[in-house]
Amino acid sequence: MEKKHILLIGTGGTIASEMGDSGLVPELTSEQLLRYIPDISGICAVDCVQPFSLDSSDLQPRHWVQVARVIRESYGRYDGFVVSHGTDTMAYTAAALSYLIQGSPKPIVLTGAQKPIGFETTDSKQNLRDAFAVAASDMAGVVLVFNGKVILGTRARKTRSKSFEAFSSINYPVLALVQDGRLIRYIRPECRETPVFYDRVNPRVALMKLIPGADWETVRWLLGRSDALIIESFGVGGLPTYEEGSCYEPVKEGLEQGKIVVMTTQVENEGSDLSVYQVGTHVKQNLPIFEAYDMTTEAVTAKLMWILGQTRDREKAAELFYTPVACDILARK
Ligand code: ASP
Repeated sequence: MEKKHILLIGTGGTIASEMGDSGLVPELTSEQLLRYIPDISGICAVDCVQPFSLDSSDLQPRHWVQVARVIRESYGRYDGFVVSHGTDTMAYTAAALSYLIQGSPKPIVLTGAQKPIGFETTDSKQNLRDAFAVAASDMAGVVLVFNGKVILGTRARKTRSKSFEAFSSINYPVLALVQDGRLIRYIRPECRETPVFYDRVNPRVALMKLIPGADWETVRWLLGRSDALIIESFGVGGLPTYEEGSCYEPVKEGLEQGKIVVMTTQVENEGSDLSVYQVGTHVKQNLPIFEAYDMTTEAVTAKLMWILGQTRDREKAAELFYTPVACDILARK
């Protein structure tokens, strides 16, 4: 069988880092990364590109567009793509690529590591090998490969800051496992014959995590500086109704100015349901807010940026928001 052709897109992160004077800095190019796993030439033929080399904390939405553009421009020439990336914001990039490249029949695989590839103890080589195994398989869509798990791009979240088991699949099953280079597949994401590419995002999206006694002037300020605000509330969701400084008014004002407000939950698993408590129903019934249900905050963020890159019309935005893309929202009531 002919070897698959894979494009390795290096973007930086711990995997490509070396120790500098004040901590780890991404230094290695994608070619240099590849030299650490020479055995990969037995599985696939790899070309390398390096659009940028950053700690993923420094990534901005324009970098997502840049990676999507690299993939679009080379899509016809490769069977699959591996994006090596910092772990800190990899879940955001995975979600963003899921909206910017929809229905890809070829695998687009993000991976990274908790320890640099040059360290004696490292997860880099295994993750990179596994990512190539998935990129050379019949997997489809945007996925994240880490510590032997294949996670759908819209469902990934970094849930551990230090150990190798860094990512979890939130409110959705793991798609596959990679064991000794072999893919044990449970789910193949749905795809189209050819993907649909987008290249516009609007980064004016803000996030507020509620704390007891939150100052609602913060909502007014955040809405004043953005086109959409995500409010991570408590439990299944709702807005506090305490007398002094009710949150309701600033949210209502923002909505009247044409802003989008999405209610979600800060609880990691099982999602929101604003219809359960009065603190939720009074918001849902009286204000044209959106509800995130089982989506991750990373996916909500990237989806809003993608939607706002296309439209500011609330009805059109609602239609796009509630239409599942890569199984990102499945529990809408
Ligand atoms: N700070 C690093 C980054 O996200 C962490 C990592 O890659 O694990 O680029």
